Amino acid sequence: MTGTPTAQRHAAATSDEPRREAAAGVPVTVARGDGIGPEIMEATLRILDAAGARLAVEEIEIGESVYRRGHSAGIEPSTWESLRRTQVFLKAPITTPQGGGFKSLNVTVRKTLGLYANVRPCVAYAPFVPTRHPGMDVVVIRENEEDLYAGIEHRQTDEVTQCLKLISRPGCERIVRYAFEHARRHGRRKVTCFTKDNIMKLTDGLFHRVFDEIAAEYPDLENEHWIVDIGAAKLADTPEAFDVVVTPNLYGDILSDVAAQIAGSVGLAGSANIGDQVAMFEAIHGSAPRRAGQDVANPSGLLMGAVMMLVHVGQAEVAERVHNAWLATLEAGAATYDIAPAGRAPLGTQAFADAIVARLGDRPRTLNPVRYAALPPAVPRQKPAPRTPERKTMDGVDIFVHDAGTSPDALAAILREASRDSYLKLQMISNRGVKVWPDGLPETFCTDHWRARFIAPAPGCAHHKHVLQLLYFLERAGVDFIKTEGLHRFGGQPGYSLGQGQ
Ligand code: NAD
Repeated sequence: MTGTPTAQRHAAATSDEPRREAAAGVPVTVARGDGIGPEIMEATLRILDAAGARLAVEEIEIGESVYRRGHSAGIEPSTWESLRRTQVFLKAPITTPQGGGFKSLNVTVRKTLGLYANVRPCVAYAPFVPTRHPGMDVVVIRENEEDLYAGIEHRQTDEVTQCLKLISRPGCERIVRYAFEHARRHGRRKVTCFTKDNIMKLTDGLFHRVFDEIAAEYPDLENEHWIVDIGAAKLADTPEAFDVVVTPNLYGDILSDVAAQIAGSVGLAGSANIGDQVAMFEAIHGSAPRRAGQDVANPSGLLMGAVMMLVHVGQAEVAERVHNAWLATLEAGAATYDIAPAGRAPLGTQAFADAIVARLGDRPRTLNPVRYAALPPAVPRQKPAPRTPERKTMDGVDIFVHDAGTSPDALAAILREASRDSYLKLQMISNRGVKVWPDGLPETFCTDHWRARFIAPAPGCAHHKHVLQLLYFLERAGVDFIKTEGLHRFGGQPGYSLGQGQ
C-alpha cells in the first residue's frame, strides 16, 4: 500500500478513467479527521498495509480546521475532486463545531455524492466483549438521503417551526431493494422494515408499501414489518429475532446506534455509505475529543469500516484476513480500555493494532470466522423503474395562516368574509393538525399557526388560478398567510391527509 503511514498525495487516475486496480493499488481517498481520528486511522492503515491491501492512498483534509477556515460544511470545494476521482472514501470521525451555521459534513457528503444506503452491521462478540445479547448479529440498513434529513426547516410564526419530511418512491425503492440484495448476498434469511405508518400514512406509508412490493420479488427471504416504536423495543430486548433491518433515515440513525451499543460497544461498529458511483466507509462513533492524543482509543470501528471498503473494492481475501485476525485478537483478550475484560490491562491504540498485525493469517476458534472471499458478486447498480405519471388533479388548497390571539370561530369568520367571492370555499380549520372549526372543542390548545382548508365545489375542479384568486382576496383582507399546499389527487386517490386530527 502506498501513501502510509505518512500523508502523501498521489497523482491518481483522471476522472474519466474507470476505477481500477492500478500497479500502485486501488485509489482511495483518506481523511484522518479530528480528535481520536488521526490515531485510529494510523492504526487502521498500518493493519491494512501489513495485511497486503493494495491501495493508493490520496489524503484530504476535512473537518474542524476546514470549518474554522470558514467553510460551513467542513470541506473545501476542491476536495470533491478527489472523492469523485477515487470514488472510495475512508473517513475518520470529525468534530462538528457547536452552534453558528456549521453544517454536518457527513450529511453533506452523503447527499452530495448520492450515498443512499447506510449499512451498519451490529454483531456481538461474546464472551470476549460483554453483552446481554450474545447471539446478536443484525445489519441495520438505513436510507441515507431523505426523510427529515432533507434539512428544509422554517420558522413560520412566532410560536411554530417546521421541518419537512420528504420520502420519495425512487428513494424507497433503492434502499429496500439494496436491503434485500444485501441479505441475499450475505446469506441472511429475513428482512424487517420499521416505519410509523399508522401515523404518517402517506410518507411512512409509501416506504411500507414499497417494502411489501419489493419483498414479493424475494420469495427466498422472509419479510416482516414492525411499527417502529414497538419494533425498537423488541430490537433492544431481543435482537436475536432480527437479521437485516431496513428503515427510513431518522429511525435508522437512532436504531443503529442502539443496536451497536447493545451488541457490545459503539466503538466496535463500522459503517458503509453506498452510492451508485462513490462509497464512504467509517466508524459509527464520533471524534471523542476527550480521548484524543492519549493513544487509548479503540480503532476497531474504523477498521471494520475499512474491511467493508476492502470487500467493496474487490479485495475480499484481504478483508477476510484482517477481520479474522481482529476476531482472533479479541479472543486472545487483547483489548483497548473500552472493551478490556475485568482484570486485564488495556492496550493502547497502536499496541492493539500491533496485536492484530501479529495475528494476520489466524482465524478465530470460538467466534465465527468471516468468509468474504466466497461472496457472490456485489449488489448491481440500480436504475429506477420507469413509471408512467399518474393523472394529477386538484381538490383545493390548504393555506397556513399566522394569527396570534384569535379564536377558531373568529378566524373562520374573517376567512369566510375575505373569501366570499372565491371559487374555493373554507371547509375546515385545524391547529397543529387538530380540527378546531367547525365543531372544535374549547379544550384544544391553539398556537398562532392555523391551517385553513379551502375546497372546490367538486373533486378535481380546483386550478392554480383559483388559488391565486383566493390568495388575492386573503391578502386584501390582511390575512398573514405563510404557505400553501395543493390538495392533489393522483389517479383519483387523495394525496393528502384528511386533516381531522385523528
Ligand atoms: P463520540 O462517539 O465521539 O464519543 C462518545 C464517547 O464514546 C467518548 O467520550 C468515548 O468515551 C467513547 N468512544 C467513542 N469512540 C471511541 C473509541 N473509538 N474508543 C474508545 N472510546 C470511544 O460522541 P460525541 O462525544 O457525542 O461526539 C464528539 C464529536 O464527534 C462531536 O463533534 C460530533 O459532532 C462528532 N461526531 C462525528 C461523527 C463522524 O464524523 N462520523 C459521528 C458522530 C459524532
